[in-house]
Amino acid sequence: MATSNSEFEISKTEEEWRKVLTPEQFQVLRKHGTERAHTSPLDKQYGKGTFVCAGCELPLFSSETKFNSGTGWPSFFDPMENAIATTVDKSLFMTRTEVHCSRCGGHLGHVFNDGPKPTGKRYCMNGVSLKFVAD
Ligand code: FE
Repeated sequence: MATSNSEFEISKTEEEWRKVLTPEQFQVLRKHGTERAHTSPLDKQYGKGTFVCAGCELPLFSSETKFNSGTGWPSFFDPMENAIATTVDKSLFMTRTEVHCSRCGGHLGHVFNDGPKPTGKRYCMNGVSLKFVAD
C-alpha cells in the first residue's frame, strides 16, 4: 500500500509503532490486517461518545453515525471532518476503497456504497483500530 510514513503528520518507524501498539493493533493499523468478524467489543458499543484512532487518538467517528450493519465489524455512515483519507486497494482480487487515519496513516478498514441514509456509505471498521471515548 502506498501509505508511506512520511506523508502523515504523525509518523513513526515500525519499531516505534510496535512499542505503543498491541500486536493486534499493529497488525491491523500498520500491516493492513483485518480482525475476525464479531470479535471487537466495539461492534456492540452503542453508547454516546467518540471513536478515536487507536494509533494517534484523532477523533474519527461520532456515535451518532454508528449503525448495526450485521457484518460483525463496527460500522458508520459518516466520518468526522478531515478525520480519514482513502486509497484504492486492489488486494484479494477485489477493488475496494481503503480507509485510513488522516493523521497517522493507520489502516482502519474499507468504505462501501451500501450504507444507510443520508450518505449511503458504510464505513466498515476494524474495532481494534479504534478506541471508544464515552461522552
Ligand atoms: Fe491515527
